[in-house]
Amino acid sequence: MAVLEKEAQEEMDIFSSTIRGFAQEKIAPVAASIDENHKVPSDLMEEMKEMGMFGVPFPEEYGGSGFGWRAYYVMVEELAKIEGSIPAIIGAHTTIASNTIFVAGTDEQKRKYLTPLAQGRYLGAFALTEPGAGSDAAGIRTVATRDGDSWIINGSKCFITNAPSADVFIVFAKTDMEKGARGGITAFIVEKGAEGLSIGKVERKLGIRGSETSDVILDNVRVPDSQVLGEVGEAFKYAMRVMQNGRLSIAAQSLGLAKGSFEMAVTYAKERQQFGKSIASFQTIQNKIAEMKMELFAIESMLESTIRLMEAGKPFNLEGSIVKAYASEKADAIINESLQVFGGYGYTMDFPIERMLRDSRVNRIYEGTSEIQRMVIAKEVFRG
Ligand SMILES: Cc1cc2nc3c(=O)[nH]c(=O)nc-3n(C[C@H](O)[C@H](O)[C@H](O)COP(=O)(O)OP(=O)(O)OC[C@H]3O[C@@H](n4cnc5c(N)ncnc54)[C@H](O)[C@@H]3O)c2cc1C
Repeated sequence: MAVLEKEAQEEMDIFSSTIRGFAQEKIAPVAASIDENHKVPSDLMEEMKEMGMFGVPFPEEYGGSGFGWRAYYVMVEELAKIEGSIPAIIGAHTTIASNTIFVAGTDEQKRKYLTPLAQGRYLGAFALTEPGAGSDAAGIRTVATRDGDSWIINGSKCFITNAPSADVFIVFAKTDMEKGARGGITAFIVEKGAEGLSIGKVERKLGIRGSETSDVILDNVRVPDSQVLGEVGEAFKYAMRVMQNGRLSIAAQSLGLAKGSFEMAVTYAKERQQFGKSIASFQTIQNKIAEMKMELFAIESMLESTIRLMEAGKPFNLEGSIVKAYASEKADAIINESLQVFGGYGYTMDFPIERMLRDSRVNRIYEGTSEIQRMVIAKEVFRG
């Protein structure tokens, strides 16, 4: 057992150093231009797809790398140390879009859609949020009505990551107006090019600018029965299930951005001279570094213990919400403090810290805001 654990650890170390090397060599040189041009270069996207980075947790049988969720979170952390858009793109594609098919799809749906998604031949989008239904996701108004052996979907979605370039959309719609989260919502697989499916307003954002976010309009989109994902009426359950993986992904993304900024701040503090000394010799700067290191250790420990619960097949809803909220909030604080160590230079675009601060901010909002995570935490606590 001990030998197996050691082997597994060694494999994970090789995997993480491969991703780290790739991120430093291929992503770091273009990270600023991704932010400026609002686009990840297509040759870089292709290379990541060829490396299997779009299907890390899924079994090889369905086109994945078969490395599992732990490896996926390690990858997200390593990518986020350098840049925030790429983990956001891969995160939405993997944890919520592809994963809904993995969790709820039939074998046929997995072969037809999950396989090309995991291989990176298709890009996935998860379309739940609507203008009137964000935190209150069960309040969606998109409707799917039965017509013979197919369904007709009408409605509009907003803030959908990857939508402008997506090949496959997981669309959530009401199929029973009398029922809500329980029994009233169904998920459908909708392909790019379906008649009546169009992309609306593309958002201009504070950060993760290389990740596309847009409205999705569904105007009498007809899908056959074979595109229903899982049980009719049961999709809210699937959405909540995949968001558990999503929340850990956001935590890993937050951890990566915070660690990346922190490491830069430490290097800079040693190099920057003021009053004839390196600023690292000032106790106030040392305190900042110590505080940041303590918070990083807390995030890492929380994430590790939550991943262990997941790997042991135990519930981790409470811990997932705790680490999602904690990591995203503390990461913002760590990056902000790292920027402070850089002084005026940190505020300029000559250094990556201001971009990382902007990239990090969304982590407190998507996949359930910090306020919603607190509601989940309190509910779990009172339920005892
Ligand atoms: C960049 C980006 C990408 C996204 N990608 C996707 C995607 O791929 N797919 C998708 O479906 N969605 C996506 N979203 C949507 C995201 O999940 C929602 O924005 C989020 O759930 C919050 O919903 P809202 O924006 O409507 O805010 P609201 O729900 O209107 O919340 C506004 C404020 O009120 C607070 N609030 C709301 N209800 C309560 C309550 N009961 N108690 C206390 N406070 C409350 C919130 O915490 C927040 O501070 C994305 C969003 C962004 C910004």
